Amino acid sequence: MTSYSKSKTLFSRAQQSIPGGVNSPVRAFNSVGGTPVFFKSAKGAYLYDEDNNKYIDFINSWGPMILGHANPKVVEAVKKQAEKSFSFGAPTELEIELAELIISMVPGLEMIRMVNSGTEACMSAIRLARGYTGKNKIIKFAGNYHGHADSFLIKAGSGAITLGTPNSPGVTPGTAADTLLANYNDFESVKTIVNDNINEIAAIILEPVAGNMGCIPPVEGFLENLRKLCDQHGILLIFDEVMTGFRLAPGGAQELFGVQADLITFGKVIGGGMPVGAFGGKRKIFEHLAPNGPVYQAGTLSGNPLAMVSGIATLSELKNNPEIYKNIANTTEKIEIGLREVFHNRQFPYQINRLGSMISVHFTENPVIDFESAQKGDVPQFKSFFHGMLDHGVYLPPSAYESWFIGNAISNDDVNHTIEVADRITVNWKY
Ligand SMILES: *Cc1c(COP(=O)(O)O)cnc(C)c1O
Repeated sequence: MTSYSKSKTLFSRAQQSIPGGVNSPVRAFNSVGGTPVFFKSAKGAYLYDEDNNKYIDFINSWGPMILGHANPKVVEAVKKQAEKSFSFGAPTELEIELAELIISMVPGLEMIRMVNSGTEACMSAIRLARGYTGKNKIIKFAGNYHGHADSFLIKAGSGAITLGTPNSPGVTPGTAADTLLANYNDFESVKTIVNDNINEIAAIILEPVAGNMGCIPPVEGFLENLRKLCDQHGILLIFDEVMTGFRLAPGGAQELFGVQADLITFGKVIGGGMPVGAFGGKRKIFEHLAPNGPVYQAGTLSGNPLAMVSGIATLSELKNNPEIYKNIANTTEKIEIGLREVFHNRQFPYQINRLGSMISVHFTENPVIDFESAQKGDVPQFKSFFHGMLDHGVYLPPSAYESWFIGNAISNDDVNHTIEVADRITVNWKY
């Protein structure tokens, strides 16, 4: 039996001083039960917890550790910068370097502003969209996550799907009224909302490949149709590429699908594990942002040199070695094929969605294409799967609503081990 005794002790202690014992809710294992694992170090594909258990990491800090943990080039860059100061609150050449690097990788990008998280990036992007268009409402999709700013913590109301209600106490009905909800992969639902709110919508924001209800790729034509609709109505299209950026391709989902958004938000991979986010787009839109324009946005630690060097080292590695993308997609495909074989042999219903190095498993017989179908997954079965894998050294996201993120350090042996474990833990499941 794997021992989690130190993690258990730490979790009890954490709950005394930190709400729920964690600094971000999904870490608390509420969806799967049990005690969150407390980590002390990681190298390459492996995590080591406080009880000295070793795990293959399929979260990779929710994406940022795409090169593997403690990549020597990234570590060296951060060490060197640490001796020269962590932060000036004043401009540095490093910020230009990262901005230029990102612009060289992402199609259509002309300007970019650094922030400290994906939440900040998305919050700032919709403010800029509103300031630029002079309109107030935004459309988001049920099951897409854009961070925890008020405007995004909106769920479908009990009546019409389009009318949002606050998803959390503390979000005002006034704020909720400006966020309209559509169904992912359902272009008609978007058209209806746009037609009911002519000249009121500033932006449509979406994850071009959803990763926060498991992995859900867009159906054919979905992104293209949104692009056309936005052009017809003077609405800005915002791709939230916090997950997909620098992961699906050097230029993210825009490159992969050949569809360009007006504003793009980044996070996760962009900082290589440091707290970095960014939002970018066309120059004519960014002229409206402070200090050049009236739309205000700021940050004391935005673009701080420590974060910049980590981002530069990570993105340079990705840009200079495009075979990394082939490698992580191949690794993920092997995981998909292996799991399909295991689940097929066990004869229980399952869905595996995958695009490139994003993959997720839902235990349901229906295809998972939107939030409603994602909710049909068998929760107890996912819990058993998660804990079985965990006890055998495979660290998966502790929720069926999260995509797995495959990193470049994961080897064939790691994949084989993972499939063997899946086979072993499901052998006695009864259906
Ligand atoms: C993680 C995530 C965010 C929020 O980023 P934080 O850095 O956690 O604030 C926003 N959008 C998407 C698509 C994400 O996956």
